[in-house]
Amino acid sequence: LTRSQDLISRRKAAVPNGVGMFNHATAVKAEGAIIIDADGRELIDFAGRIGVVNAGHCPPPVVKAIQEQAAKFLHVSFNVASYEPYIALCEKLNTLLPHGGPTKTLLVSTGAEAVENAIKIARQATKRQGVLCFTDAFHGRTMMAMTLTSKVGYKPDCGPFAPEVYRTQFPNFYRFGAGRSEAEFVKDELQRLHELSHNTVAPENLAAVIVEPVQGEGGFNVIPKDYLKGLRKWCDKHGILLILDEIQSGFGRTGAWSAFEQMGVQPDISTWAKSLGSGMPIAAVVGRAEVMDAAGPSSIGGTYIGNPLSCAAALATITYMEDIYLNAKGWHVGEVIRKRFEKMKAKHACIGDVRGLGAMMALEFVHDGDPQKPDADTCSKLMAACATRDLVMINAGTEKNIIRVLCALVISDEQLNKGLDIMEEELDAICS
Ligand code: PMP
Repeated sequence: LTRSQDLISRRKAAVPNGVGMFNHATAVKAEGAIIIDADGRELIDFAGRIGVVNAGHCPPPVVKAIQEQAAKFLHVSFNVASYEPYIALCEKLNTLLPHGGPTKTLLVSTGAEAVENAIKIARQATKRQGVLCFTDAFHGRTMMAMTLTSKVGYKPDCGPFAPEVYRTQFPNFYRFGAGRSEAEFVKDELQRLHELSHNTVAPENLAAVIVEPVQGEGGFNVIPKDYLKGLRKWCDKHGILLILDEIQSGFGRTGAWSAFEQMGVQPDISTWAKSLGSGMPIAAVVGRAEVMDAAGPSSIGGTYIGNPLSCAAALATITYMEDIYLNAKGWHVGEVIRKRFEKMKAKHACIGDVRGLGAMMALEFVHDGDPQKPDADTCSKLMAACATRDLVMINAGTEKNIIRVLCALVISDEQLNKGLDIMEEELDAICS
């Protein structure tokens, strides 16, 4: 047995099967875009640990900030003693992420917790209960977040789910465009939204609509800009709050702090986690001050909210991102990937679509060039073949037929192209 194999067999004996295992990679050390596994092999990390290391594995200023904070205090509970790193991080997020007026931030620990709190705040602010969400959405694994999550495979036998959650079709232009122009498609999808008030839920009962501007787990589906604008208008007309979940798309991934700033729409509330803390558990609910202040005393919070080490890590991460122009790097990485993916698509009929925003790039495998016929088989073969050559990848999509790249944005062109070479060679072999 190799050390990695030994570790995996110990895992199987000690950890429940339900904890997802996307691949058999192990890790003992990580730096930049590379992971060293238990056998000392260097793996190119195209998974970015599910989008958490936009600024790279272990950025030195972040490690230093954690060490310095650890020497001061690990935990005092923000509910019991106020500390500067929490407040400084909220101030920073309030200025980076405009929500159309004075903004406030709640820090928590995980993405799912941010989503739970966003819904609680929206309900208190509107005194309404309903929440509208979308197909192929992913919002987390706690009870409300799991209810909002679309893929049935993520929640077998986990019900009863939270009540007052309604779902409509995500405007996935590639899958449902059916020959229409994007403008026609958006018009029809907005019509579907308006019809919801007759066939699904009365809008005056909706507290919020929650949507990912670029769906992550769902397969890097970019919401059409004009649909998001129409959704914003519909929310305003009916007094519904718009919650944008940028947990996967935030902090450089789309070549900007947020995807929404590139779409010309501002949310009432937004949720953040993952790359915000470079791997430390930290998440944020950012929102218009009057909305955020509607939550009653102690109705939001928790023992570990905004852990001091995590706040220090997030502050250092953002400063580092600013110093190295990470958003520009995101654009560059995205352009390199897009060109290489387009080249692969030109060669192989099994690739139906290449899409994304900034470095949030994906390719989708289908049979017969038909967006309705997902090809999960080619996707999983490609992942397995790349794994034998030390390239770690993850899939996406409700049908697992999409490859998404979430590599560190500090990846060198050489590392990135090496990973893409491996992908292309293995794809050539599988498809020939
Ligand atoms: N929302 C989105 C868009 C996500 O991608 C994820 C995680 N994949 C979550 C929420 C849940 O975050 P966490 O795993 O930190 O609870």
